[in-house]
Amino acid sequence: MAPDLLTLTPQGLFCPAGGFHIDPWRPVARALVTHGHSDHARPGHAAYLTTPQALPVIRHRLGPITAESLPYGQPLAIGPVTVSFHPAGHVPGSAQVRVEHRGEVWVVSGDYKTEADGLAEPFAPVPCHAFITECTFGLPVFRWRPQPMVIADVAAWWAANARAGKTSLLAAYSFGKAQRLLAALPPLGPILTHGAVEEINQILRAQGYPLPATTRVTPEITAKTHPGALVLAPPSALATPWARRFEPAEEAMASGWMAVRGIRRRRGLGTGFALSDHADWDGLLTAVKATGAPRIRATHGYTVPFARHLCDLGLQADTLQTEFTGDDTPGDGA
Ligand SMILES: [Zn+2]
Ligand SMILES: [Zn+2]
Repeated sequence: MAPDLLTLTPQGLFCPAGGFHIDPWRPVARALVTHGHSDHARPGHAAYLTTPQALPVIRHRLGPITAESLPYGQPLAIGPVTVSFHPAGHVPGSAQVRVEHRGEVWVVSGDYKTEADGLAEPFAPVPCHAFITECTFGLPVFRWRPQPMVIADVAAWWAANARAGKTSLLAAYSFGKAQRLLAALPPLGPILTHGAVEEINQILRAQGYPLPATTRVTPEITAKTHPGALVLAPPSALATPWARRFEPAEEAMASGWMAVRGIRRRRGLGTGFALSDHADWDGLLTAVKATGAPRIRATHGYTVPFARHLCDLGLQADTLQTEFTGDDTPGDGA
């Protein structure tokens, strides 16, 4: 039997035939990077390869790096191996990586979701022999409602708060989730942004992603200057002195983890909107089937139950121990 096209080294996922890593967590010579979240785009690699859409955020986050970009769908030869990027639907610019060698094709999903969100390039299944899939939400309890329904809930919450003379403080990851909300929400009032969100907004706007006007929160901005505003901030900014200027305010968080009542309660959030940039249970199964791959390697989340379920379906599935956080840490945009 031929050796695996992709293997695990202490640095991360490695292609021995091509001599490159994919989303490595320790410094390597050549890194293919699926997207700009911090558990995938790490500092210290000698050379980076990513999509042109993902590169500006990665440069913003990592500072000066040696990087090249490769457009979606365009093949590139790296030694005897051919690689290409394909939309993952996770955040703007995010990619799956297709790796081909001597007729054998492996695909690394990176983080992905199957529902089109109106901003990120929609997920495109890629036929392959082996699919390395994330499974952050790989349990049957995770089933997302369609985005328009969740957005309608957020809009109703915002409108009700504004009617009650309150600010709406919405926590969302600063890259991906925040912009997805911005692009989808109706214009019900002023939208204020934490600096971490606004920096990403400006980068994506400059790239041509359609985002509505937003105002960065500066010291003179308070609930009085912008009554009825929606404030988009990273989760870490809630319950801080920074947030106090918006009182009286209602707080909420948009995250896939909000589907679990216990997590919502532990975070002390009365309101949670279950909106995730990762595939839910059905999305994962749909994506796996769409690849036609007989071999699946599960990483990044509920790997053991998900792989077991795939084995029950007759697939050759196992788990792959990676160092992607796959939880609700700020970097990952769950
Ligand atoms: Zn991730
Ligand atoms: Zn991610």
